[in-house]
Amino acid sequence: MKKQNFQFRTGRIWVVMAAIFVFAAATSVNAQTLIGHGNGQGKGIGLGNGISIGQGNDISKGKGIGLGNGIGKGIGKGKGIAKGKGKGKGKGKGIGQHPEKNKGSSARTLANLQDMGKLPSPPRPPVAIPLEPSPGKRIVPVEDTLQGARSIGLDLLDGRVSLSLSLGGDSSASNTLILYDTTGPWGFLGELYAQMTANLVSRFGTWQAYPVGEYSAGEMTDYSAVVYIGSTYDEPLPTAFLTDTLAGTTPVLWMYDNIWQLTAHSSDFHAAYGWNWAGFDFSSISTINYKLVDLNRNTLNQGGIMTYANIDQSRVELPATAVRDDGTSFPWAVRSLNLTYIGEVPFAYMDHEDRYLVLADMLFDLLAPETVEQHRALVRIEDVGPDADPQELIVIAQELSSRSVPFSVAVYPRYEDPHGAYNNGVPESYDLADRPDVVAALQFMQSQGGTLLMHGYTHQFGELINPYSGASADDFEFYTAHVDANDSVIYDGPVPGDSQVWAANRIALSEAAFVAAGLEVPTIFEFPHYAGSVPNYMAVDERFGVRYDRGLYFPGNLSQQPIDYSRLAGQFFPYPVRDIYGSWIIPENIGNIEPEPFNNHPARLPADLLAAGEANLVVRDGFASFFFHPYLDPNMLVQVVDGLKQQGYEFVDVNSLIP
Ligand SMILES: [Zn+2]
Repeated sequence: MKKQNFQFRTGRIWVVMAAIFVFAAATSVNAQTLIGHGNGQGKGIGLGNGISIGQGNDISKGKGIGLGNGIGKGIGKGKGIAKGKGKGKGKGKGIGQHPEKNKGSSARTLANLQDMGKLPSPPRPPVAIPLEPSPGKRIVPVEDTLQGARSIGLDLLDGRVSLSLSLGGDSSASNTLILYDTTGPWGFLGELYAQMTANLVSRFGTWQAYPVGEYSAGEMTDYSAVVYIGSTYDEPLPTAFLTDTLAGTTPVLWMYDNIWQLTAHSSDFHAAYGWNWAGFDFSSISTINYKLVDLNRNTLNQGGIMTYANIDQSRVELPATAVRDDGTSFPWAVRSLNLTYIGEVPFAYMDHEDRYLVLADMLFDLLAPETVEQHRALVRIEDVGPDADPQELIVIAQELSSRSVPFSVAVYPRYEDPHGAYNNGVPESYDLADRPDVVAALQFMQSQGGTLLMHGYTHQFGELINPYSGASADDFEFYTAHVDANDSVIYDGPVPGDSQVWAANRIALSEAAFVAAGLEVPTIFEFPHYAGSVPNYMAVDERFGVRYDRGLYFPGNLSQQPIDYSRLAGQFFPYPVRDIYGSWIIPENIGNIEPEPFNNHPARLPADLLAAGEANLVVRDGFASFFFHPYLDPNMLVQVVDGLKQQGYEFVDVNSLIP
């Protein structure tokens, strides 16, 4: 009976979509060019408290400020903010910020945590073909670029030679400089994209990140490589950055905007690099082909992708291809000499089988080209508390152990149901120590290759409805959320009384409950519903240093400004990283099984997880990591495990991944 009435625990939350919007102030574009670039009403993705940005098909209604490109006429009339209306529903699969349960059927229609934290693209560029700026005072001669490239082993005559053959090397030694845009109303996106970049490149070594405007001459020579994310159209780029990039001696990965500033700064960019840009393509593009695998691109993304002119294919590598929905295609990225250019920002609208994975893999070329290909898998049994059914746990342990598959178990050691939601209105609470049969089942799991994780203390917060029932495993513990009138779960921010000390105390209570049950205290932490505040991340870093997670990232983390909880980015990782909060992250990247469709979201069945596994094979040292709720049919668990093995993945012990 317990919990049968609750459907879809966290896995999904509809993001609040705020209104739409146009900030006419956007970047340095003249008013004329802005007109008519909107995509109609009500498009956009909301982040957090009614802040909406983006250009998708999502309809939104809500408070807050919408940033984006929406309606051309709004601008034409000189209004800075256009209105949007609608229902706050989005479509498309999210990046899976949420793992939780889905038991039985229910009238409760829930939210889509998977959409939570999905970052939109930068606004659609005001024009398809940007104007090249007037040449600056210093034009870099082609000869300088070529000479520089030769000096680091790049042979012009064999331009196809990959950077990977001559650059990079020992990944532990890599040190990446991340430069990001900050100007304009979309400036905050730059810092979020930079955090996501930092998280990925941490796989390969250390990094530094700061606004591109702060770049000073010669700095990049101290780094293994530079990643520049052009997210603000016509961000003023320092001449020194352009000059140093064109010097050819430091590998630079450049995304999206402002490439026209670079090409204008060379005496003859095409002569040096063998390609030039042509303009943005705004057609519907939902596929990026890489290594013969089709990866997804969300068509909510209206930001466009850069196209090219005059590609000399004897000198330019074309790592991936953008495929228009009419079947025609063009290069998604180009690479020659020290420069790799990707025509969009692959962090926008990420999904399980997304072209984000192309970027994740291309970073190996940049930072660790010697990496040997391998594909590992992880499985985690989710939401096991004192209220668990011991028999279900035993069956799962037997199934996995008979396949020699190590696994982990996310455990919250205290059960709370302060409103009696599952007990006829009578409040209930008890510890693992009060359920010796569950403890015995956990010990059996350990004996069969299971590693226990700390999945919070109670997996709920006090008596708060946060946001479902107040009961363990339903609710958030380290973050607050509510369900709005549109059945959207809205992330509200840190819990009342939040602090690093509060979180540390919560962890200490959990530890004590493990000990009281006769269990060792876990060494890996997993946030309930993958959500915590910055001080919570700090507390976990201090105590564990290891999270099994998809992280939430906020403006302010890099800029040292107060954290802006209203704008957040969620990110999954296809390999272990050390994220910006300092902790080592065990990845979870292909989600979980959700047998029932809900709202506009399709069910996710074993075949869907396996499709994500297939996509992740493009990452040369990548993972397929999923989780499974023990109340589901164990045959589905087995299907995913066996399927991933057939794809070439090897299941590994989570402990083997901790440095
Ligand atoms: Zn959970």
